[in-house]
Amino acid sequence: MGNQKSQTFPTAALFGWYDKHGRDLPWRRRWPYLASAYHVWLSEIMLQQTVVATVIPYFLDFTRRWPTINDLASAPLDDVLAAWAGLGYYARARNLHKAAVMVATEWGGQFSGDHRHANAVADLRALPGVGPYTAGAIAAIAFGQQAVVVDGNIERLFSRYFAITTPLPAAKTEIAAAYAAILPVDRPSDWPQALMDFANAVCTPKQPLCDGCCFAESCQALARGLVDQLPVKPVKTPKPVRRAIAFVAVNDQGDIFLHRRPNQGLLGGMLAFPEIGLASKQADQNLDQTMAPFAADWVLLDEPVLHVFTHFALEMKICLASIEGTPQPIADDIKGHWAKPRPADLPSLMRKIWKAAAAMLLPPHASR
Ligand code: SF4
Repeated sequence: MGNQKSQTFPTAALFGWYDKHGRDLPWRRRWPYLASAYHVWLSEIMLQQTVVATVIPYFLDFTRRWPTINDLASAPLDDVLAAWAGLGYYARARNLHKAAVMVATEWGGQFSGDHRHANAVADLRALPGVGPYTAGAIAAIAFGQQAVVVDGNIERLFSRYFAITTPLPAAKTEIAAAYAAILPVDRPSDWPQALMDFANAVCTPKQPLCDGCCFAESCQALARGLVDQLPVKPVKTPKPVRRAIAFVAVNDQGDIFLHRRPNQGLLGGMLAFPEIGLASKQADQNLDQTMAPFAADWVLLDEPVLHVFTHFALEMKICLASIEGTPQPIADDIKGHWAKPRPADLPSLMRKIWKAAAAMLLPPHASR
């Protein structure tokens, strides 16, 4: 690694490729124009764990509802969580709102403001939910600084181009050093975006398009026959399985019983069906109708819903009941309300649960 490699990096070829094939994205501007820091930050938080095609409509919806970070900071958290529903990893939405409030109240409402100086990355990292990658992305893309911005796409491209055989995540330091060594002075905001687009379109995870790749002459993985072996991934351990049970109650108005989950923890602050077991790491729990939040004629559905979280896989049983009148609570800690089913307001797991339950409710109700 180092100067010798940096001298051979085909920067001009990359920019040439980007000028022709780079994606036009709603949060993107081309050098010498810089994107708004609010837009870069919002899109980067949304893009964590989520693909571009999914993020675009959410980004457009957020920026239509809340055109500035001050607007977002003034919005009720519940509205932000409802608008986020379906994007997953809800801690991101809570941190998003916290960070917006911090910028509005402590930074004078200016995302960039005084933070364009050389330590912008360190300042930005003080915001909740902003790690080194996101801080680097804002500094490079919105402030035009020479910051290190390495995402999974760039990791793959650099692992191959420089033939970095150290397994991930240990290779991250080497990749960041390579990145810093070849950072161009020109077009600093385009640089990470060009690398990401190129890796996404050409140096793809499977079957990269090495034939005709404008890096082929100097790509070390290609020269050494290592393309299929790089990057070296960490050994995967299977995810532990959790079991839980959700209670879906429907009243004679067609309303469903929901409650808002506590702010801390899994699906924090989101609307949900009452459930038992989601927070428990025990896989072998005995879960049945007797644990329901109120007395009713509960029916256990045959098929559980399967859902994968970052750290575990979930098998969620579903109990369904049609309720007439006001149910008598069994569990005191469930404070819920009846509402018309609006899947768009629910997180993905709860949408899946409602879909499975609703399929059993379709007329006639008694057919389950
Ligand atoms: S030659 Fe192949 S492996 Fe090397 S950068 Fe191009 S697409 Fe990636």
